[in-house]
Amino acid sequence: MAGRPVNVTVLGAGVIGLTTAMLLSRDKRFNITIIAKHMPGDYDIEYASPWAGANYLPVGQHGTLLAKLERESWPELSRLAREVPEAAIHFQDTVVYRREKDSQQTGPVSTWMKSLVENDPWYAGVVPDFRLLKSHELPPGHESGMAFTSVCINTALYLPWLMGQCLKHGATVKRGIVKHVSDAAHLHASGSKADVVINCTGLSSKTLGGVKDMELYPGRGQIILVRNESNLMVTTSGTDDGDDEATYIMQRAAGGGTILGGCLQANNSDSNPDPNLATRILKRSLAVCPALIADSAPGAGVEAISIVRHGVGLRPMRKSGPRVDKERIGKTWVVHSYGHGGYGYQSSYGSAYMVAGLVDEILEGRAGVGVERARL
Ligand SMILES: Cc1cc2nc3c(=O)[nH]c(=O)nc-3n(C[C@H](O)[C@H](O)[C@H](O)COP(=O)(O)OP(=O)(O)OC[C@H]3O[C@@H](n4cnc5c(N)ncnc54)[C@H](O)[C@@H]3O)c2cc1C
Repeated sequence: MAGRPVNVTVLGAGVIGLTTAMLLSRDKRFNITIIAKHMPGDYDIEYASPWAGANYLPVGQHGTLLAKLERESWPELSRLAREVPEAAIHFQDTVVYRREKDSQQTGPVSTWMKSLVENDPWYAGVVPDFRLLKSHELPPGHESGMAFTSVCINTALYLPWLMGQCLKHGATVKRGIVKHVSDAAHLHASGSKADVVINCTGLSSKTLGGVKDMELYPGRGQIILVRNESNLMVTTSGTDDGDDEATYIMQRAAGGGTILGGCLQANNSDSNPDPNLATRILKRSLAVCPALIADSAPGAGVEAISIVRHGVGLRPMRKSGPRVDKERIGKTWVVHSYGHGGYGYQSSYGSAYMVAGLVDEILEGRAGVGVERARL
């Protein structure tokens, strides 16, 4: 491959594909083509990224690949919040409220929150201003909690920003649907076969030819985007409304409104918002964050919340966590990066760095043969 650029096709234009494509397109060795069925601006149940909040709340258990990817993503996300206003990421005071009874539970939400609510989590040394909350700072029904500074991403602006960065650095972007992952190699804009395909197809890797990963399953999330401002990011360890229901609130940067969530419903792909769940989300949000309406209508109820829209997205959950590894499929080298569940933004840069390392290994001929699993 010496003497010519390395042709890389990135399959997928969600946060994982675009972050990877941006990183690689900044490297003059690569000629990048992005192929995707859905692009920033689209809202579709098969496209997870626009539905996310999105914030940085690490949930990877200490020592896992996910925790490593989350740890490595913080420096760039916080740099963007500090230095790049057009990326639409801002810092926000963050609190996590905990109920003791949730630590005994093993349902989807308790498992999801497990490492988030530890007293001495690994990320205490990553995010700034980490401290345990005092009892007078807790809402009724919660026994403990923690506070730190984190970031919230306005996904409606951030995804187009990522795409713009890819274009600025010379990437070509094309709509396309492939049936087999190897087919993406033949869609490179150069007209030549791509040297490497990066598979960032999220949940679709469950059905994509050449991959068909049966570890993947949808984790349905329902959200409400509202105009009210929380000025605070709030998450609780559980609710009394079922072990797959959650309460989280985050105010997006740059006038993006506030996201109220939510739920984590395994193997449910219903794209229609459930009105009863929406009512429960509004009530729970107001109970833990009265500031949502305090200024505009003190003493009022959920009717004082001004709704922009209801939404449903499917998190690309994977039983053993995200897959970031390389594999030779027929005559095509493929680097996979999918299965980022409810943590694709907060692990996006760590994942992209890892993909870049795997591409280097392929180019240096260090790849060996067959599948190499790059998990910790
Ligand atoms: C309600 C909700 C809240 C969330 N909140 C957060 C949060 O606060 N923080 C956080 O970090 N994460 C959050 N997430 C998770 C995050 O949204 C996902 O992890 C992330 O969006 C996954 O990105 P992806 O690029 O892997 O997949 P996707 O965004 O689904 O993108 C997949 C891409 O692949 C393309 N594609 C698929 N198959 C094909 C094919 N055959 N041919 C061509 N193109 C194809 C699609 O068109 C699309 O462009 C949340 C998710 C939901 C649903």
